[in-house]
Amino acid sequence: MKFRSLAVALVAGALVLAGCGREGAPPAPGAPAGDGGTAAAAAPTFAVAENVQLPDSPTFQRMQERGRVIMGVKNDQPGLGQFDPTTNTYSGFDVEIGRLVAAKLGFDPTSEIDYVVVQSAAREDAISRGDVDYYVGTYTINDNRKQRVGFAGPYFVAGQDLLVRADDTSITGPQTLQGKKVCSVTGSTPIQRVRDQGLTQPENIVEFQTYTQCVDQLLQGQVNAVTTDDAILKGYASQRPDELKVVGQTFSTEPYGIGVPRDDTALRNKVNDILEEAYADGTWQQIYDATLGLSGSPASAPQVERY
Ligand code: GLU
Repeated sequence: MKFRSLAVALVAGALVLAGCGREGAPPAPGAPAGDGGTAAAAAPTFAVAENVQLPDSPTFQRMQERGRVIMGVKNDQPGLGQFDPTTNTYSGFDVEIGRLVAAKLGFDPTSEIDYVVVQSAAREDAISRGDVDYYVGTYTINDNRKQRVGFAGPYFVAGQDLLVRADDTSITGPQTLQGKKVCSVTGSTPIQRVRDQGLTQPENIVEFQTYTQCVDQLLQGQVNAVTTDDAILKGYASQRPDELKVVGQTFSTEPYGIGVPRDDTALRNKVNDILEEAYADGTWQQIYDATLGLSGSPASAPQVERY
C-alpha cells in the first residue's frame, strides 16, 4: 500500500514536473541537433491543412477552441521522442508523426503544439482525463488498453528486445534471463511479459518510471539487462556503443498506435486517414528516414488496422 501510493505520487509528480512545454525557435536549417543523434533539421516540414471540419469529434472541437494541440510525448527516447534542453526542442520519429497529425488537422506544428510528457504508466489516465488531445510515444496497441483509450494506427511495429552491457556474453535472448536482474518500466507491455512468462524471478524484476533510469542502472552494474522495444533500446545503444549493445532477438510484436480518447471515433478515423495518406504519398518514409532510419535499419509503413 505504501509503495503503491508512492508510485502514484511519482507518476503524478512526473506529469507536473514535465509540465506543458512550448518549444523555442527550431535550430537553423543545417544546424546540428545538439544531441549528436537525431538531426532535427533533416525532418520534413508539413503543409498545414485548411478548413478542417470534424463536427463529431469533441476532442477536435476543444483543440479548435483552444487554437492549439496538446500532444502527449516521451522526452527521453532518442530517435523516437527526445527533448533537447539546449535547443528547447523535441525530436524523433514519434514526435514527427505527431506533428504531421497536427498539421493535417489544421494546426501549425512549429508554433501551435504544446508538448506534455507522459510516462508509460500514466498514459491511459492522461488520455481519458483529456490532459492530452492525443499521444504519440511508443504506445503499443492492445485489447487491454483499448478498454480505456482509442488507437489510430499502427504507424510502426517494434519488438521486445534486451539491452545489456557490451562485454556481457551470458545474455543472448529471453531464455537466458533466469537469475539475472532485469529492469523495465511500470505499466509497459515488456515488464508485463517478463512477469507473465516468468523470464526471471519476481524479486529480480526492477521497475522504474522511465527507461533512462533503467539504462543508468545497467551502466552502474545494478541490473543485468533492460528490456523494452528494440526501437527504444537501439537509441540508447547508439549513444554509448562502447558500453551497451542490443541482443537482437525480438520476442514480441509491438504495434505502435496514436492514443486518442476512447469514444472519439471521428478523431480516430481522421488520424487513420492521415496516416494512410502519409503511407501512400511517401511522407511516412521521409519521416522514418530523417529519424529512426538514421540508425541504418530500413523499414516500411505498416497497414492501418481500423476497428
Ligand atoms: N511499446 C511498449 C508499451 O507500450 C513499451 C514502450 C513504452 O513503455 O512506451 O508498453
